[in-house]
Amino acid sequence: MIQKINIIGAGLAGCEAAWQLANRGIKVNLYEIKTIKKNPVQKLDTFAELVCSNSLRSSDIKNAIGTLKKELEMFDSIVIKIAKECEIPGGQSLTVDRENFSKKITDLILKHENINVIYEELDNINLNDINIIATGPLTSKKMQLIISNLIGKSYFYFFDAVAPIVKLDSINMDICFKKNRYDKGYTKDYINCPMNEEQYNQFYQELIKGDTIDLHLKDEENFKVFEGCMPVEVMAKRGYKTLTYGPLKPAGLRNNDGSSNFAVVQLRQDNASDTLYNMVGFQTNLSFNEQKRIFRLIPGLEKAEFIRFGVMHKNNFINAPKLLNSYNQLKKNKNIFFAGQITGVEGYVESVSSAIISAINVYNTIKNKELLTFPKTTVIGALQSYIINTCSENFQPMKANWGIVEKLLINKKIKKEEKKELYSSRSLKDLEEFIFKNFIE
Ligand SMILES: Cc1cc2nc3c(=O)[nH]c(=O)nc-3n(C[C@H](O)[C@H](O)[C@H](O)COP(=O)(O)OP(=O)(O)OC[C@H]3O[C@@H](n4cnc5c(N)ncnc54)[C@H](O)[C@@H]3O)c2cc1C
Repeated sequence: MIQKINIIGAGLAGCEAAWQLANRGIKVNLYEIKTIKKNPVQKLDTFAELVCSNSLRSSDIKNAIGTLKKELEMFDSIVIKIAKECEIPGGQSLTVDRENFSKKITDLILKHENINVIYEELDNINLNDINIIATGPLTSKKMQLIISNLIGKSYFYFFDAVAPIVKLDSINMDICFKKNRYDKGYTKDYINCPMNEEQYNQFYQELIKGDTIDLHLKDEENFKVFEGCMPVEVMAKRGYKTLTYGPLKPAGLRNNDGSSNFAVVQLRQDNASDTLYNMVGFQTNLSFNEQKRIFRLIPGLEKAEFIRFGVMHKNNFINAPKLLNSYNQLKKNKNIFFAGQITGVEGYVESVSSAIISAINVYNTIKNKELLTFPKTTVIGALQSYIINTCSENFQPMKANWGIVEKLLINKKIKKEEKKELYSSRSLKDLEEFIFKNFIE
């Protein structure tokens, strides 16, 4: 019996997965709910809707996201191809006319002889079929329930509540120092940014009047999750010294010369290769520009490079490190694959990259071929490796960035920009070799 292939959700990831499989001669059913019921941010009836910004971010290959786009082009990504056809001026970023973009993708999908579009809310999954779940950060209620039943409620999250992540090499270690509170533990795990009262006061005054993003919180279920995790600016508004009794507590964090501080911001290591640090207790609703402006007032973070900003918004994603393997396949059910933002990647392009991994591995499953783990030296492979290998406690979504890509050993001192170029050319070369080895017959 021929197994059916169902792709649930015709967003960026679902369309890309359908395209990849259909072009390899595989017939797929693509389910989409939006013509029947839209989520609060959808406006169009067409597929692959960019719900917020119309930018697919930088095209400069020195940025990991620019290199990732080049990598996706090697797989003839429908999303990147159409984005380029619909490009409008946007400086270095790939900015598109969103309606044209969505319409062109929809036309190609509807026209494809191997794609059968079904306009309905899928409310049950046949476990004998192969299914790619690509229902995105705002998965429908019924699907939320199906996923919860499939994986266990505690592994399905409704909120992103993350603190900003900063690149280690952008932190000024002449000002900051490594130390654990009261010197507990054998290693010095935290980077501490010390503040005197004047510095704290300046930071505090800006923090309490910073511009925030509207959360659109209506849903009671989600609100409960949110209550457990207070934004730093909300905590600050409770009183001038509230933070200094909370996440900015200076106790047990004296400077190396023994002097004490008025407040201390702590940063905790965020990845195994020790290149990224997250700001402890800094989950926030401040706008991204405000985070950059206000958090750079913290001593030692004046030139901080933010790999991701803090966010608190509705976002359905699963605990990938516990549940998925490197093929985006559910460890406990080989017929279920996930793709897109729901796997714990973050961003339009990242969602597409995740779909390519799923589609290729679904194809290999059908053809009884070995499933493929993408190289960790490439951006696509590094992102996948991050979501499945990072700590599963407090797992949070991740964007493409060089900090998660396997370290490149460089023996001499070189400029940052030159280093990024080396990372990029290694990624593209390794992916080319991977494609040559696995796909050229
Ligand atoms: C409010 C918001 C703003 C964002 N802004 C940006 C941004 O500016 N830049 C950026 O890079 N990333 C942004 N993201 C993150 C993410 O990149 C996008 O959400 C992206 O669209 C994710 O792609 P996806 O294919 O995983 O999900 P989606 O594009 O959301 O696609 C999922 C599809 O599944 C459908 N669906 C849901 N449930 C069912 C069901 N039961 N049956 C059938 N179909 C179903 C939906 O209607 C939708 O079409 C944002 C996320 C949110 C929530």
